[in-house]
Amino acid sequence: MNRQELTDCKRIVVKVGTSTLTHNTDQLNLMRMESLTRELADLHNQGRDVLLVSSGAIGVGVGRFGLKEAPRTLPMKQALAAVGQGTLLHMYEKLFAEYGKIVAQVLLTKDDFQERLRYLNCRNTLLTLLSLGVIPIINENDTVVVDEIKFGDNDTLSALVAGSVNADLLIILSDIDGLYDDDPRRNPEAKRRSEVYEITEEMEKSSHSRGTKLASGGMYTKLLAARMVMTAGIPMVVADGADKDILRRIIAGEQVGTLFVPRENKMHARERWIAFSSFPQGSIQVDTGARDAIYKRGKSLLPGGVVGVDGDFERGEVVAIIDPDGHEFARGITNYSAGEIRLIAGQKTSQIEQILGGKDYDEVIHRNNLTLCD
Ligand code: GLU
Repeated sequence: MNRQELTDCKRIVVKVGTSTLTHNTDQLNLMRMESLTRELADLHNQGRDVLLVSSGAIGVGVGRFGLKEAPRTLPMKQALAAVGQGTLLHMYEKLFAEYGKIVAQVLLTKDDFQERLRYLNCRNTLLTLLSLGVIPIINENDTVVVDEIKFGDNDTLSALVAGSVNADLLIILSDIDGLYDDDPRRNPEAKRRSEVYEITEEMEKSSHSRGTKLASGGMYTKLLAARMVMTAGIPMVVADGADKDILRRIIAGEQVGTLFVPRENKMHARERWIAFSSFPQGSIQVDTGARDAIYKRGKSLLPGGVVGVDGDFERGEVVAIIDPDGHEFARGITNYSAGEIRLIAGQKTSQIEQILGGKDYDEVIHRNNLTLCD
């Protein structure tokens, strides 16, 4: 893919971070918000679907109370988010209304993506909003999250949103204009990478520093988001939210920011959910033959290739598939429960009926319900 192809993007998810939306006084950066909403409204006027993933709830809450320090406890963060989210939405509502746009507030938690029914519901709601010409403004539902159901960073959330609505492009606006080959704050020779085709371990390692005091991301979570959308077949651009006309320039195919080039084929909706949103309820260990059949030849998982089962899952749940080296290389929706698989592990398909007293499926996991991890 080349930059010019971005011009044809029909459905765009834009994520904007706290540091882009606020001054270092923790008060809203109104000029920035104004230009951002104007650009988004203009993309919408061009007939594109626009979804905005906006951070800033906690940061704006801190600003409302004039707190000198970032909140430390979870209840305090949640209380500040409850105040700040309202203020943030109020401002978006007002700014978008100037361009005749209707916005909707959508607050999500990890659970909303992991449980398939909730996920489908949430996707349908977002798609319905888009069909109504609404611009959804999405944030993590900070007020109710506890650690287990927390994304913790909106980069991940924006990648999941992009996957769920099958977006054509994800743009992450940050306080840095892309991914560098070294830390530009320490090395003035560091160069911005214009295109990235693969996220390497070295990139991940060198990106471990955190974001600013109220943003949880930093470059590391952007790389995780990039990995997800690239695998799903969706391009992503990281660019500086402070740069003038940045969205228009990205969509015009200008060499701004870093473009993360996706794999050629887009994943199907169900594959995307299995790979990124679901949370495996257990795991199945397979032998080398089964690993190769799945990984290299796109086959289903049969009982003969199963050597072990971990966890206590039911039929229809998502499980991780583990190779003989202990690596998760695929995920899938299982046709049999953990207890049933323990009984038929290593056996021929023709024996399933005799062992379980009935047979609904030949495969433990059908290839249509299987996704390779990368
Ligand atoms: N949900 C948090 C907020 O709105 C921000 C998370 C992040 O920084 O990515 O304040």
